[in-house]
Amino acid sequence: MPVDTLVSSLFSSNPYFSAGVGVLGVGAGLAVLRQGITRGAGVARRLLLVSLEIPSKDKSYTWFLHWMSKQSAKKTHELAVETNFVQHDNGSISTNFSLVPGPGKHYFKWKGVWLKVERARDGKMIDLSTGSPWETVTLTTLSRDRHIFADLLSEAHKLALASQEGKTVIYTSWGPDWRPFGLPRKRRMLDSVILDQGVKEHITKDVEDFINNGRWYNERGIPYRRGYLLYGPPGSGKSSFIQALAGELQYNICILNLSERGLTDDRLNHLLSNAPERSIILLEDIDAAFTTKRQSSDEQGYHSMVTFSGLLNALDGVAASEERIIFMTTNHVDRLDQALIRPGRVDFKEHLGVASEYQIRTMFLRFYEGQTELAEKFVQRVKGKGVSTAQLQGHFVFYKGDPEAALRHSDSVT
Ligand code: ADP
Repeated sequence: MPVDTLVSSLFSSNPYFSAGVGVLGVGAGLAVLRQGITRGAGVARRLLLVSLEIPSKDKSYTWFLHWMSKQSAKKTHELAVETNFVQHDNGSISTNFSLVPGPGKHYFKWKGVWLKVERARDGKMIDLSTGSPWETVTLTTLSRDRHIFADLLSEAHKLALASQEGKTVIYTSWGPDWRPFGLPRKRRMLDSVILDQGVKEHITKDVEDFINNGRWYNERGIPYRRGYLLYGPPGSGKSSFIQALAGELQYNICILNLSERGLTDDRLNHLLSNAPERSIILLEDIDAAFTTKRQSSDEQGYHSMVTFSGLLNALDGVAASEERIIFMTTNHVDRLDQALIRPGRVDFKEHLGVASEYQIRTMFLRFYEGQTELAEKFVQRVKGKGVSTAQLQGHFVFYKGDPEAALRHSDSVT
């Protein structure tokens, strides 16, 4: 008898053996089936579902969470709290809590489409620039509904923009990045800043011309940037004007203090060439970084790390091709090195001095509407005394609603 016939007859004649083979066969079959199902499900998932991953580093991350807090606060069960401070016009601060979806899985329906949202936190990874744990939000939906992602992101973006409309976002440096400082502030009106006659219009027109002439710069291969220097005594409205100008142009402001500890040439360069779009960069008290602060901090054993040549390099921003508007302010223009204020670095200079007759009169009338006679008397008493517009403001706030008293006590405006 051949061997294979012998083996098969042995198997078929032995009931225990054939049952064993049967069980083994079923087991193996099931395993294959299970594997098949898992693989099939994987394939089906790949074919039928689409996912969108938003890492916490991306701008749309906060937009999305904010948007979702509006959609699903009632539907989802795992919530996390986010605290916002709102500053009112009178300076008081109130606190708002919004409930955003917490880490975990959430399902919700939007515009008739089911979405799965998974917010996952990586316990080990930390976003170095913010110090917060690294997170990702993954949105999943059916492949045929993939268009919903674009709709959703654009709606989240619109919502984020609406919350900034009519406001100015102030950015400060945070490590190598710019980060919003507090909530967007109400725009300051240009009318509220009183400069000498024609000065506001002069600067504003120059900035607007610059903004509208991007093509001119590009076509000539000239770096698209413009530097402005406002100089004059403290309290002459330099910072206030820049804020109002940003408001007028609907730009945001990035404020950088050059004497900030830990600011190096590299970081400065990076910050100046990576400012958020539509923003004015403001370098305040530009002289302080290289003179007084430097000396006094040297005495304390540390000093600002930005070097003068580092600042010049950063201003020249060799690589910068996008629009760059840089405003610098100083109380001591005489302390500035000529190399800093040459055209290309500072293209426009304007002196904002102590209050002129025009400014004294206009400010008086802004506080005491229609009181032209008193305004004239006030001007005659105060002019030539070298008072600043900030001092005038302080005086008028003190004698709020009482122009006679403001005039009577005009000697105390100093
Ligand atoms: P600077 O930057 O020149 O030191 P600020 O803009 O910080 O002055 O002004 C300090 C304060 O004085 C602000 O509250 C501002 O509203 C007020 N102030 C100063 N100058 C003016 C001005 N020209 N018009 C209106 N307000 C002014």
